[in-house]
Amino acid sequence: MKANVTYWLDRTADRLPDKIAFADEKKEVTFSGLKKQAQALATQMLEKGLFKRPVAVYLEKGVDVLVSFMGAAYSCNFYSPIDIEMPASRVNKILEVLQPAFVITTEALRAAFEQYDYQGEYLIFEEAVRMEADEQLIDAARDKGIDTDLLYVLFTSGSTGIPKGVTINHRSVIDYIDWVTETFDITQEDIFGNQAPFYFDNSILDIYSTIKSGATAYIIPKRLFAQPVPLLEYLKEKKINTIFWVPSALIVVAKLKAFRNVDLSNTLRRVLFCGEVMPNRQLNVWRKFLPDVLYANLYGPTEITDACTYYIVDREFSDDEPLPIGIPMANTDIIVLNEKDEPVSGDEVGELCVRGTSLSMGYYRNPGKTQEAFVQNPLNPCVPEIIYRTGDLVKYNEHGELVYLSRKDFQIKHMGHRIELGEIETAVSSLEEIALCCCLYDEKRQKIVLFIEEELDRAYINEKISRLVPEYMLPNKVITLETMPINANGKIDRVKLKEYL
Ligand code: AMP
Repeated sequence: MKANVTYWLDRTADRLPDKIAFADEKKEVTFSGLKKQAQALATQMLEKGLFKRPVAVYLEKGVDVLVSFMGAAYSCNFYSPIDIEMPASRVNKILEVLQPAFVITTEALRAAFEQYDYQGEYLIFEEAVRMEADEQLIDAARDKGIDTDLLYVLFTSGSTGIPKGVTINHRSVIDYIDWVTETFDITQEDIFGNQAPFYFDNSILDIYSTIKSGATAYIIPKRLFAQPVPLLEYLKEKKINTIFWVPSALIVVAKLKAFRNVDLSNTLRRVLFCGEVMPNRQLNVWRKFLPDVLYANLYGPTEITDACTYYIVDREFSDDEPLPIGIPMANTDIIVLNEKDEPVSGDEVGELCVRGTSLSMGYYRNPGKTQEAFVQNPLNPCVPEIIYRTGDLVKYNEHGELVYLSRKDFQIKHMGHRIELGEIETAVSSLEEIALCCCLYDEKRQKIVLFIEEELDRAYINEKISRLVPEYMLPNKVITLETMPINANGKIDRVKLKEYL
């Protein structure tokens, strides 16, 4: 059977040619327009002989990014979005790993891209989408492609300072979106309000549910997430009925109780969230003001195509109770392993491991990191079978639902962003004034805290490292100690450091 996500677009463009697929502040695109422009891009790539090659997309967040993604998919190449706000050194590290065959950008942004370590070719978006599409060439490529060919690579924070490129194929996205659209009954009547950046895997749900079902997705301007009342007014004005946001975005709205000013009870139907812990305290505010909405907590890392478990909120929770992450999605198996790599029993704590079609094929050009996280299922001695070890500690509650507890390692979630504290430490250590440093996360105050031995102020450090790490990774607090505490193994004593938080 043919399997490429663009067959969804073909069908939806036939069915609903003039319906708006995606809209941003400046532009909108219909399904037929999306297909036409994407096929024009695909033709350009295929004519240059590109097939199954990485394509970097360097564009401002908006409709054009999605046209580019579909262009890559039609040509059976795979895309990787590069955030235009990312510091140059990080972009260079990504380029070193990805080695793109092509960069899709605009003439205006090309000059900015030329500062990076890249000597390859460019596809200038505004020119390429105006070219003729060659459908035969595209069909021939899609006939050669198979469902386990890559669709995209998303880069996440890596502890050594080298971002990891999570690879995902067409089959995994098809499997996931089939589940999403069926479980939440997504149809052409639905209107999404997209929050997730396109370099973050939550966006997969918005993008592909829209394309598959013929819904419409509005790309919400980023600035609105700092202004809850205008944000809710925007949702109302666009008649958005489904949102899939990171909890941080929902929390900002709940804290300021923006619902008092804007009534969404006649429009909003589904509030889905994923990416970090959703505290019941804030969810209860949403539930109080909008009791008829469906709320669902989705859980999962980029490595398993966005989400692998879900919990549709079906009972009351007190503010201090944890919200479960629920049960596995269809065609997904969750194995919780204890320290002996045996399945946990009762409410024993263990690491959540995932088995199934949703699994990434590994980190792009990084066999070492791939082998650490994608391992043989210890419960299957008979045939090769890979599971993904998430590094998340969980347990089952009395309802048989999974509950997220904490991380095993130094990965954190800060304002919805996945960060390896090691990446910040690597950046800080590169400053010549710094001898030793350590980063911890203060969960209670939601602050990244940097410990150093030198008298340097935060503004100075952040100014220096902002060339190496994105803004959301900059420490929120710097603590200078006379000497860093060291444990019996000669390592920095993180337990002691926690006392300073
Ligand atoms: P990312 O790859 O950016 O999606 O980050 C994945 C990590 O975010 C997971 O391994 C968890 O640590 C955390 N995470 C994702 N969803 C949830 C959730 N619903 N509740 C708690 N933590 C979550």
